[in-house]
Amino acid sequence: MSDQLIKVPADWAKSAYVDDAKYTEMYEQSIKDPVGFWAEHGKRVDWIKPYTKVKDVSYNQRDLHIRWFEDGTLNACYNCVDRHVKDKGDEVAIIWEGDDPSVDQTITYTQLHHHVQRFANVLKDQGVKKGDRVTIYMPMIPEAAYAMLACARIGAVHSVVFGGFSPDALAGRIQDCDSRFVITSDEGVRGGRPIPLKENTDDALDSCPDVESVIVVEHTGGAVTMKEGRDVWYHEVAGRVDHECPCEEMNAEDPLFILYTSGSTGKPKGVLHTTGGYLVYASMTHQYVFDYKPGDIYWCTADVGWVTGHSYILYGPLANGATTLMFEGVPTYPDSSRCWQVCDKHNVNIFYTAPTAIRALMREGDEPVKKTSRKSLRLLGSVGEPINPEAWLWYHKVVGDERCPIVDTWWQTETGGILISPLPGATDLKPGSATRPFFGVEPVLVDNDGHPLHGATSGNLCIADSWPGQMRTVYGDHKRFFETYFSQFKGKYFSGDGCRRDEDGYYWITGRVDDVLNVSGHRMGTAEIESALVAHEKVAEAAVVGYPHDIKGQGIYAYVTLKQGQDPSDDLKKELVQWVRKEIGPIASPDLLQWAPGLPKTRSGKIMRRILRKIAEDDFSNLGDTSTLADPGVVDDLIDNRQNLG
Ligand code: ATP
Ligand code: MG
Repeated sequence: MSDQLIKVPADWAKSAYVDDAKYTEMYEQSIKDPVGFWAEHGKRVDWIKPYTKVKDVSYNQRDLHIRWFEDGTLNACYNCVDRHVKDKGDEVAIIWEGDDPSVDQTITYTQLHHHVQRFANVLKDQGVKKGDRVTIYMPMIPEAAYAMLACARIGAVHSVVFGGFSPDALAGRIQDCDSRFVITSDEGVRGGRPIPLKENTDDALDSCPDVESVIVVEHTGGAVTMKEGRDVWYHEVAGRVDHECPCEEMNAEDPLFILYTSGSTGKPKGVLHTTGGYLVYASMTHQYVFDYKPGDIYWCTADVGWVTGHSYILYGPLANGATTLMFEGVPTYPDSSRCWQVCDKHNVNIFYTAPTAIRALMREGDEPVKKTSRKSLRLLGSVGEPINPEAWLWYHKVVGDERCPIVDTWWQTETGGILISPLPGATDLKPGSATRPFFGVEPVLVDNDGHPLHGATSGNLCIADSWPGQMRTVYGDHKRFFETYFSQFKGKYFSGDGCRRDEDGYYWITGRVDDVLNVSGHRMGTAEIESALVAHEKVAEAAVVGYPHDIKGQGIYAYVTLKQGQDPSDDLKKELVQWVRKEIGPIASPDLLQWAPGLPKTRSGKIMRRILRKIAEDDFSNLGDTSTLADPGVVDDLIDNRQNLG
């Protein structure tokens, strides 16, 4: 099933920016002559002072540094806003769709320009200076975008914390980067339920005495308490500041933002991105991977609290003068047809979401999709986890009516932008594969001793050399930067993910290497076994981990969530074990299988296997940091069921 090949549609090969031949030509050039390649493509953004140096990188412990376009100056906000005002001032920059389906708003580039300047002056009024860190804890409303762009405009470094995070998680992120300014809102709303953002901020700030100013954007009008001398209403200050605010001239290597990784694997790291290389890379990948053409309506369902929201709701699309849709709500509210209704309402052409959302919607059946038209859709995208071939095929067939290519984009907070992905006019697709590297990206698979592996093989996924969007350091901890990414395999960036390369040179992400199973000496990624389970008609979602096994070393422990209306029974358990045996082989058949009404996920929707491993090992006392879990209650249920399993 996963070996199926879906050819580039003929009209795509003709109309896209690059076809297969052009991809090969550009890719080869980018690897042979990275300096020449990026010297050329760096020009896609407007520079105040053009760069003369393109690249200066060392991955060595002694002098680890990554610099791109280092003597150039520019402003990211100027590139995302001001430069579009002259020619497309009346075109829509942001379509905002509220949680309530009857509420939406469009913001043109001219309007965006006004809002952002106003916001920038409010920041200045509150004492924010170039280089200061500003924490943004906001719902998905246009003001979140204005706030980020306003920081970029005046050279402040934003640190966006996802609005679903707890006061503790917020406090930790404020303290870690020494942020003295917070922007929040009275409340957020998701799925009809209010989220007390200001109240959470107040709780967080009990342990952040250095915060001087909290700017509060009124959104729902819900009651909040304002602390005299610290808290101000945005609209009150905005009413008295200047309308105009010039852009600060920034060096290419000045910090643009800090973003804490989502925490699937441990203590969040403050990933630091700088201005020039990041913007070049975000905008270039957005244009080519999504084949973005002027006039397209583009919707990425991520939250601005994740890197996907930074690069592919905000910076990439706006740098390209695109129309980007920002959605406040959730895919299942008021019902599971919502995404497709929004596509129809705003004539969305490009739709980019995560496997967790696709699996959740697939669970509800085809009808909520089929009752909508979706005829505006041209291209679909996926990001965040390996997408199971079953979910891929459903997305392709039911959502995209077999008409829309799917770009399965592999990348990380650390990479700033997409590193491995099909290009829709160039790449034949294989369901479940992120396919081929983007320009300038040279993946290398290495064994555990760091030896490069060639041809069709599996190994640790590294990148041989830098690309402009790469993170520059872990904020305040350059040593951790080296240790996390460059210490395992000398001279290479190590992603932490495992990967298989097939005969066609296509890449298949098999999961995080920490999750890799070693069963009787065979190394297996979790993704393959999970995909086999999800391919069964009664299974909605599955997570697989290893647990200590006397004979095999590691046994396979599977957590399975069934589709709506399916009965968990011992017979079905046996059937599923047999099914995996048949799909992959006896070596992969689960030793223990537990029904899971829900799986523990991060707030960005990723399965947290670290916790599932502990439960499988019967080690409930030591679950580690669970502060980034979306629903901690799920864990208690799993522990109860585990104890029943014996
Ligand atoms: P943390 O690093 O804090 O544990 P995280 O890795 O979940 O959190 P992100 O940077 O948001 O934080 O996610 C990047 C990871 O997501 C990748 O390393 C990979 O494991 C997974 N991933 C992202 N996109 C894909 C994809 N298209 N296919 C497979 N895996 C993907
Ligand atoms: Mg990670």
